[in-house]
Amino acid sequence: MTTQDYIQLENDYGAMNYKPLDVVLTRGKGVWVWDVEGNQYLDCLASYSAVNQGHCHPRIAAAMQEQIERLTLTSRAFRNDQLGLFYKELCELTHSHLVLPMNSGAEAVETCIKAVRKWGYRTKGIPEGKAEIIACENNFHGRTITLISFSTEAQYRNGYAPFTPGFKIIPFGDAQALEQAITPNTVAFLVEPIQGEAGIIVPPAGYLKRVREICAAHDIVMMTDEIQTGLGRTGKLLAEEHEGVEADLTMIGKALAGGFYPISAVLSNKQVLGVFQPGDHGSTFGGNPLACATARMALKVLVEEGMIENAAKMGDYMAQQLRGISSPYVKQVRGKGLLIGVELRQEARGARRFCEALMKQGVLCKETHEHVIRFAPPLIIQRAEIDFAIERFQTVLASL
Ligand SMILES: *Cc1c(COP(=O)(O)O)cnc(C)c1O
Repeated sequence: MTTQDYIQLENDYGAMNYKPLDVVLTRGKGVWVWDVEGNQYLDCLASYSAVNQGHCHPRIAAAMQEQIERLTLTSRAFRNDQLGLFYKELCELTHSHLVLPMNSGAEAVETCIKAVRKWGYRTKGIPEGKAEIIACENNFHGRTITLISFSTEAQYRNGYAPFTPGFKIIPFGDAQALEQAITPNTVAFLVEPIQGEAGIIVPPAGYLKRVREICAAHDIVMMTDEIQTGLGRTGKLLAEEHEGVEADLTMIGKALAGGFYPISAVLSNKQVLGVFQPGDHGSTFGGNPLACATARMALKVLVEEGMIENAAKMGDYMAQQLRGISSPYVKQVRGKGLLIGVELRQEARGARRFCEALMKQGVLCKETHEHVIRFAPPLIIQRAEIDFAIERFQTVLASL
């Protein structure tokens, strides 16, 4: 079968809710992937940061393989010998007190919304049905009805009404707006440390620190969505560490099992997740032994193999190299660690055609919004590979 045959199959039988680049991948190893025709590419997206540890990491593969042959799913009707160890290791790593495992990022965010509402009714005495959660303009927290209910992106919402009430939107990066939006019924503030899907938007320095203070002063729950920014992506285990803050609730997902398995988690202090009683919330696959065993090794290699430090170092190098490119199309290079956005000017006529040209040069990138190219390779990337990407990018900028 040819590339075109595979694409035809997807087009004939699949819903058209994506518009991927026309590359059909069949194999991956580390920072590299190969298509069905044998062409090799440097992966500069890392599956939206779900493959921070690199494709098919051998130690994660081995841990998963071992668990697959032993026990995969128990449901939470029974206990399993991986869950408690996963909790303990994750809590020790992130300085959390409690964990709640789910499957997708969206489910972790939904879990937080349930938890803070219940927390507000129980501990703040907010009248039932009145809890308010504050979120930011241009947020991305997932695709469920409740999550798109407070999206400000028209396409995410069009045609999906009616929406879930109880959310208030303020500008991102504006701590004063948060303070002004708080009412006696506010239970929580939900924020991404860096807005990924919005185009790698970095808030002003000191923002999260100020948010931390405001949330504490008004007794509302600070929730950081680190599903994309967490697990080493920005050069720290969690991006909130850049400002030395700890949120009350933190969502992680994506790279939690190194791209081998969907698993997400809510990290919490004692109080907030402490509101859940047996039967209040659940998931058939959440916390299954296969997910836990895989995630345990994915976390272990992230730390043991120095990927977080490498992300900081290589991120600085990559940003510096990108800033060194002189092209009339490049408006701004921004980000932290290996989460880098290159914003193109209007004259560039959209980032998509640059991604398509980069693909032909052996570098896989994806546009985010119309004018931003995201560079977010696996955290194991080395200098020579970054040089490879930069060279190709220069060629593409010069040729279009
Ligand atoms: C990807 C992402 C989500 C949603 O995760 P899914 O696993 O796709 O449901 C939520 N928040 C952020 C910041 C993300 O990047």
